[in-house]
Amino acid sequence: MNSLDRYAVFGQPIKHSQSPKIHRLFAIQTQQQLNYQAQEVSADNFANSADYFFSKGGKGLNCTVPLKELAYQFANKLTARATFAKAVNTLALQKDGAILGDNTDGCGLITDLTVNHHIALKEKRLLILGAGGASRGIIAPIMQYHPEQLVIANRTVEKSVALAAEFQSLGSNISGCGFNDLAQQQFDLILNATSASLSNQLPPLAKNLLAKKGCCYDLAYAHEPTTFVRWGIENNALKSLDGLGMLVEQAAEAFYIWRKIRPDTPAVITLLKSKHAV
Ligand code: NDP
Repeated sequence: MNSLDRYAVFGQPIKHSQSPKIHRLFAIQTQQQLNYQAQEVSADNFANSADYFFSKGGKGLNCTVPLKELAYQFANKLTARATFAKAVNTLALQKDGAILGDNTDGCGLITDLTVNHHIALKEKRLLILGAGGASRGIIAPIMQYHPEQLVIANRTVEKSVALAAEFQSLGSNISGCGFNDLAQQQFDLILNATSASLSNQLPPLAKNLLAKKGCCYDLAYAHEPTTFVRWGIENNALKSLDGLGMLVEQAAEAFYIWRKIRPDTPAVITLLKSKHAV
């Protein structure tokens, strides 16, 4: 009988998930014996599939699109950051049998920005494009760094306005608007948390939106520079980055929650960027 601790990522679609590869690299690096699989799970099947997984001895799950809100409801204990985000990307079986829900997306982004790329957030003018699940997960961790201003701009304006209102307790300098309301404004860091890059699209962005020496960060990632990463380069960004580092860092935080050991993430990011990582 296979006695390896079992982990999985649930989502739909899941075929292109990098998570099994990342966790395999973490396990090799930290000499942990574990099994991590990707499983296609629809929203309708999530609760049953997660129940079954844990009833058969599974130790932990990652949940991705479109399951993060369902995972939030499924957990019977929540960390503070998951409670704020109202979304869970990591479920962990506890010693008492409870299932802890956590959200490591924000922490993954912050580590990639501030540690891997030395991008400062304190007293900076920040713009988040998009008001979906990813934006929800990154607002509270960003606010801990005391930016001068955090603007959330979205195609559906009501969503960004509502999201900003929901997080007002973290600071009166959070506001929500539409893309057209950004005229005459400039930002030191623009984070693209829309899913536009996944279909090679770009939100309508004014040419002077990025301040001199400003940076761009696309939460999406691809083998080639995304449309938003290219926009950053064309608009003279000091750095224009994609979300591969965030992906690895959020995975490392999940790995730590499960295994209580921290992988060396830069080594894994370098490996994934090379063509020999498969
Ligand atoms: P959601 O589906 O929850 O939200 C999508 C957002 O994108 C909405 O705000 C939507 O606007 C906007 N949007 C979609 N298409 C367009 C378009 N063509 N033009 C302008 N806006 C558009 O997705 P998530 O928040 O979960 O994910 C967003 C992105 O973040 C994805 O690319 C995902 O891959 C990435 N991500 C990366 C992670 C990482 O570790 N690197 C972790 C989590 C997410 P509207 O409200 O108007 O529909």
